[in-house]
Amino acid sequence: MKRILVIEDEPQMRLGLRDNLELEGYDVETASDGDEGLLKASSFTPDLVILDVMLPKMNGFDVCRGLRARSISTPIVMLTARSAETDKVLGLELGADDYVTKPFSITELLARVRAVLRRAGAQQPPADLLRIGDIEIDFKLHQARRGKSRIEFTAREFDLLRYFVQHTGQVVTREQILNEVWGYEEFPTTRTIDNFVAKLRQKIERAPHAPEHILTIHGSGYKFVG
Ligand code: CA
Repeated sequence: MKRILVIEDEPQMRLGLRDNLELEGYDVETASDGDEGLLKASSFTPDLVILDVMLPKMNGFDVCRGLRARSISTPIVMLTARSAETDKVLGLELGADDYVTKPFSITELLARVRAVLRRAGAQQPPADLLRIGDIEIDFKLHQARRGKSRIEFTAREFDLLRYFVQHTGQVVTREQILNEVWGYEEFPTTRTIDNFVAKLRQKIERAPHAPEHILTIHGSGYKFVG
């Protein structure tokens, strides 16, 4: 199920969008201002963000900048109430993927959402096979090789690697990793995460002490780059 985050301050519009998107089969979270939107973009990890330009405090352009500054590359569809051409151009320059001018029909918005999700999906590498430098990883067979030699992973290391790959370009916190890779039934410490990351680096990085793929983001967590 694709996840969509709606950032819109007007309650009627926000709830209307949520209901319509849920009817279409999307998993929807909402935020009523930019701060909440940025937090939820990190915790909910949406596949698409619908972002209103006219928001209190931080406007939609600032939110768009904030998302990209956090290396969150989720596609964004902006809602602009103003018809000024500059709004559209500015939004697209800041990294929005599309925009819809208010008032819009829900049919039109849903069509845009589908199109943007389809484009985003087409840009992703095939889910089962990934090449990182000289390593080829097969997520279906749970195998990796460098040239002819096989690299062995434990099941947990493989899950962690998959999680990083699924969040390529995004900063993920140790808490997110704990919740989503280890789950709530187990109680490892954030230190455990660091140990597992060190093991993964030994296996996939050319120079584990100067990693090029699993980067440490000080004060935040980790970021995987392909
Ligand atoms: Ca608004």
